[in-house]
Amino acid sequence: MSDAGPSDEQRAWFEQACVELHERYAPLQDGEPASYIPELSAVDPDRFAIAAVTLDGQQILVGDVEQAFTIQSISKLLVYGLALELHGRDAVLAKVGVSPTGDSFNAIELDEATNRAPNPMVNAGAIAVTDLIAGASVEQRIETMRSMYERYLGRRPEIDHDVWASERATGNRNRAIAYLMLSRGIVGDNVEETLDLYFAQCSVLVTVADLAMIGAIIANHGAHPLTGERIVSREVTRDMLTVALTCGMYDYAGEWAYSVGIPAKSGVGGGILGMLPGAGGLATFSPRLDAIGNSVRGLRVFEELSAEFEMHLFDPDRPWRRTLGR
Ligand code: GLU
Repeated sequence: MSDAGPSDEQRAWFEQACVELHERYAPLQDGEPASYIPELSAVDPDRFAIAAVTLDGQQILVGDVEQAFTIQSISKLLVYGLALELHGRDAVLAKVGVSPTGDSFNAIELDEATNRAPNPMVNAGAIAVTDLIAGASVEQRIETMRSMYERYLGRRPEIDHDVWASERATGNRNRAIAYLMLSRGIVGDNVEETLDLYFAQCSVLVTVADLAMIGAIIANHGAHPLTGERIVSREVTRDMLTVALTCGMYDYAGEWAYSVGIPAKSGVGGGILGMLPGAGGLATFSPRLDAIGNSVRGLRVFEELSAEFEMHLFDPDRPWRRTLGR
């Protein structure tokens, strides 16, 4: 396999497929933007974008690629990586497991035997992981989180303060989950501070192009495809990719692994971040969500691209390694 990335012809073929899928699914009106966080429903529901970044740094951008939206649950994957880097696997595994649940993302449940949160991609696990981002004050903890984002994004992250305030004002279910974990000794007693940090990490603004680049970084096992800078360690990306594949798409994760087979994480802001190890990052944005919380158009695009370009991780020949990347 060459290091050169896709040829012009391969790239044109892939880009054409993205353009056609964008045209085909733009009229699809199924689903609604999330409204349980009131400020999220302020988004234009018809925005739609697809982006890919290959490991040699080529970008494919289709649709509303400049539109910023809040990263929401996709943050859980990045903060999980940060916690693993800061504390190591054993310390993180003591607080949160790696079992897919099949339950909804905001289920109020902990493992009966260990008290751990089931996995880092449901809210309980994510809040337990955020609790591990320590610091002398909430500002310092937010700064640690911000600098992680800065490494991935190549700029200071912007937080949507209206969404942050809206989550804070209405996040009582997350509060219940966090206090349950406090009662079981899984999180420390600065629960409100940890929740504030969790709401902040969810309220960071990104574009679909940012997500595709983040996907490419993780798919490149932590080295930035353009600069070579190490953003996250190789060992940690293996764990991030594993939980993304098994738990990243809410309670649709099993079906997703079966039919799409791309490690991915979605968020209720309408984004889906996909990572194709050794090939690149793929991302979609469309705020209309299905009942599970995944972007309706995003699911379709991933399903179709995975089928057409044989991107499933377990496709015997994995031809996408030649098509989309190395
Ligand atoms: N901030 C959101 C919450 O915890 C994130 C949910 C999501 O994207 O799934 O409710």
